[in-house]
Amino acid sequence: MTKPDAAHPHNAPGRVFVDLTCVECTLCVRACPNVFSKDARAKAYVHTQPTEETDLAVVEACTRICPSNSIKLHKD
Ligand code: SF4
Repeated sequence: MTKPDAAHPHNAPGRVFVDLTCVECTLCVRACPNVFSKDARAKAYVHTQPTEETDLAVVEACTRICPSNSIKLHKD
């Protein structure tokens, strides 16, 4: 379950965020390096908010396949 109050502190502000329930699988980082990165513990965070339609589509896919449901995308 995504927990907004436990968001990774390195998330860039915006509509996408990763919370600290991330289990460090690195799937989102490998799928969308334009948006996600990993910290020293391999926990993912959003380094850049998605702007391109292709990035948004991959981010949406990542929200569905993240094994710990740690990625949240707010719809505009
Ligand atoms: S897909 Fe989920 S569990 Fe895997 S690195 Fe990204 S946020 Fe963490």
